[in-house]
Amino acid sequence: MTGRNLVTGAQNTWCPGCGNFTIQHALKNILAGRENEGKSLDNVVLVTGIGCHAKIADYLNINSFYSLHGRTIPVATGLKLANPDLTVICCCGDGDCYAEGLDHLIFAAKRNIDITVIVHDNRVYGLTTGQYTPTSPLGFRGKSTPLGTAEYPVNPLELMLASGATYIARGYTKKMQQLESLIRGGIAHRGFAFIDVLQICATFFPVADYYSQRVYDHEDYDLTDFSRACAKAREWDYSSDAKIALGIFYEQNLPTFDEKMAVVPSPAGEREQRILDLLATRT
Ligand code: SF4
Repeated sequence: MTGRNLVTGAQNTWCPGCGNFTIQHALKNILAGRENEGKSLDNVVLVTGIGCHAKIADYLNINSFYSLHGRTIPVATGLKLANPDLTVICCCGDGDCYAEGLDHLIFAAKRNIDITVIVHDNRVYGLTTGQYTPTSPLGFRGKSTPLGTAEYPVNPLELMLASGATYIARGYTKKMQQLESLIRGGIAHRGFAFIDVLQICATFFPVADYYSQRVYDHEDYDLTDFSRACAKAREWDYSSDAKIALGIFYEQNLPTFDEKMAVVPSPAGEREQRILDLLATRT
């Protein structure tokens, strides 16, 4: 039993079969687990953008900030810098985070700000009834591309590896236990944690059969091996018929942006040295 009911009484308007339910349940279990360990949920903040995913802020009974489209990450960054004791979790959509808010995502990874970003990557704009997003496959037919998109999708894992994220994982909403473990790992990780979740949109991109035939848990390897992680991330390009690896792809322990910003008041010349000292403690 937990001290509070983690699900609000708000009417849930996600479609039946939507993968957002799985992400909500995974987060609820993680939060309940924290409370059972005696950790207060008052220090947890959930930030969302705009899209179907964002309704999770209405449905989970924790501190939350419903932000603007694409602006989830700057809000989360500000919260973390203002109060480094907070555990800040972002739920973003693929349109929200890989299109409108892409620059924020890249810079947050580059800075290694200590937040956790969960991307509900359904590969379609569901709330606006089915337009293509940056991860939609080549040839995707939707409201804005009736003849099929002529663009290749971005590979968000490669993008995050190139940008400097220090925890990179991929989960799938039909594998809730694993997803829960990946999100829990991201929250525990000190630094920028990124989890791309293959989230089924049951209404506008129902590809559960395609995923379920291809996903596998990738073999163990040294998670600090950047080249190996790049090769693993390139195995599937979000369009081909290749197998789709799930799990943690990369993990590295480096000083975080919030730790480095705490050094800012140092006298000129000392700040860089103190940041280098921080780095030396992690390698
Ligand atoms: Fe879920 Fe898609 Fe329905 Fe949105 S449109 S609630 S993503 S199934």
